[in-house]
Amino acid sequence: MILRLLLLVAALLLWVFWPDNTPVKPLPASKTASCFQQISWRLDSIDPAFGLSAEQALPLLQDAANQWNQALGKEVLRYDPQQGFPVRFIFDARQQQQLEQLMLERNLHRYDNRIEDQQRDFEQQLAEFQQLKDEFAEKDRQLAADIQAFNQKAQQADPGAAALLGKEQAELLSRQKEHALEAEQLDALTEKLQDRQQQLNNTIADRNALIPEQQPTGLAEVGLLEQQGANRMMTIFAYKDAHHLTLTLLHEFGHALGLDHLADRSSIMHSQLNGSQQGLTSADIQAWQQQCSARG
Ligand SMILES: [Zn+2]
Repeated sequence: MILRLLLLVAALLLWVFWPDNTPVKPLPASKTASCFQQISWRLDSIDPAFGLSAEQALPLLQDAANQWNQALGKEVLRYDPQQGFPVRFIFDARQQQQLEQLMLERNLHRYDNRIEDQQRDFEQQLAEFQQLKDEFAEKDRQLAADIQAFNQKAQQADPGAAALLGKEQAELLSRQKEHALEAEQLDALTEKLQDRQQQLNNTIADRNALIPEQQPTGLAEVGLLEQQGANRMMTIFAYKDAHHLTLTLLHEFGHALGLDHLADRSSIMHSQLNGSQQGLTSADIQAWQQQCSARG
């Protein structure tokens, strides 16, 4: 009863996920081999240009194989240094492209850090400048009001108050002089800020100039799983870092298990490596389970 229900659920899922895939054809034996037997693999060769030793590569391969084994709940992939299908690392322009891409990303990251620093610095200085400007405007208003009040008083005052007025006038003149000096300082500060802004713009322009007008294409095709009958061969052409390589190995091992590409962008079996993949997803696992339940 539970089995029937599960099959029904599987059939329903199949219908939900692959509405165009009708009718369900029996899959060739090479596709479903992993449903009833272990697929064994071995590390065959690594082009020295990768700078990757077998001691470094083997644990990564084993890790990717183990991730599948754990996800599927049984040892579908087995390491067999004698009989396993060969895994080769072949160096070509794709790896060169990967390295250039990696270098570019690092450089952009450095620029972004510097831009962030400059921007923070600029914004802080701008805030300080704004405050000085506000204080200056306030003083400006006050001085204008005081001068107006003084002029009124001077017009109405009797000649006896001349000495007192003279002292007040001298004070106002000295304030005016000081005020003019502050205006000059503000002008100088404005120029300094404009320079800073220009510097920031230059850094941003330098950063953007690093990005090639045409993004390199074909970066997704960095691995290959060839299969003829029961004979398989995996080739790795390029990888950016250990995580990237693990994702590619997971994908190619998925092909070795008979899986095709999936539409879900975050699935390992999506046709292109993209930023949304982290590891095996339920879509990857379901694809294998469906493949095995569909075998006729
Ligand atoms: Zn593929």
